[in-house]
Amino acid sequence: MTLPALLAIGAYADWDVPDMQEGFDLLQIASASALAGVDVARRQGIKAVAYKGHNPFGATEMDLLPSLEIIANYGVGYDAIDVEAATKRGVRVTNTPDVLNDDVADLAVAMLLSFTRNMAFNAAWQARGDWAEKGDPPLARKFSGARAGIMGLGRIGREIADRLAAFKMEIHYHSRSKKNTPAGWVWHETPEGLAAACDYMVVALVGGKATENYVSRDVIAAMGADAVIANISRGTTIDEDALLEALEAGHIRGAALDVFRVEPQFDPRFLALKNVYLQPHQGSATVETRKGMGALQRANIRAHLAGKRLLTPVN
Ligand code: NAP
Repeated sequence: MTLPALLAIGAYADWDVPDMQEGFDLLQIASASALAGVDVARRQGIKAVAYKGHNPFGATEMDLLPSLEIIANYGVGYDAIDVEAATKRGVRVTNTPDVLNDDVADLAVAMLLSFTRNMAFNAAWQARGDWAEKGDPPLARKFSGARAGIMGLGRIGREIADRLAAFKMEIHYHSRSKKNTPAGWVWHETPEGLAAACDYMVVALVGGKATENYVSRDVIAAMGADAVIANISRGTTIDEDALLEALEAGHIRGAALDVFRVEPQFDPRFLALKNVYLQPHQGSATVETRKGMGALQRANIRAHLAGKRLLTPVN
């Protein structure tokens, strides 16, 4: 029996590979840009792509795979994949929602706490011996009880809001429509309205063209001078130049960022700032969650090839 051909694009963990070999004729490449170099006969037989990464996977790549039926994305954010081009070609797209909500929400809270309680600065203070030499480090700022704002109350946004509510925070949010929330949560019709109403604003929007610069220069200008912004969504959702200018000028207190406009070669201006806390896109980066994401990615591929309903379809 000939096994269905599966093309895995991106860097996978050791535990993913044996499962991708189970029942598949597996071909692995590091990135979509290597696709054109794959032997034509091999390419022509590929029905399924397991996609991992943030480089674009669009019409050009799809046209190199004439038998393609499904692109299963590793991650909930599928902004790298041209879904319209896939739909046009009858190619199904899937993603991995929900299994990563907890980790991304945990990281959002951890980043805000780390920023506002000066965790990195204080750890370095202690490691250098400054405690004994210079005494206590400068005071930090209080987190619990402040006003939280969630830009995009989707699956991850809701998990973040639930966590911040446990920190006795007032919860404000902006989504395109009012959500069913616990009593007392305040909906803001506009992103500017949310920005003006909170001390800690977390961006949890989807990425892609539709939300590009959603947190615009005007939204950043609406934030108070004492306000902090966090982004765990995609670098594209914030006007990064406007954010850098606001941080450089001290127009806002700070930023805690896991995602950047360009990754991993992010804007070096961030490194010159003292009022930022930066993470290298670590939202879902735990062993447990990454195993769950890989398992869901492959479950979608197997369901499709068995003629069953996709578990988490995008189109
Ligand atoms: P989700 O449930 O689909 O929620 C997305 C939010 O984006 C919703 O609040 C939705 O608004 C809003 N939205 C969608 N399209 C919009 C538009 N055109 N204009 C304005 N708002 C729009 O997604 P999720 O599962 O929470 O994931 C959110 C994002 O987190 C992912 O797409 C991904 O990019 C990012 N993420 C990052 C990491 C990381 O490592 N940092 C890990 C996982 C995910 P409505 O409520 O109005 O519908």
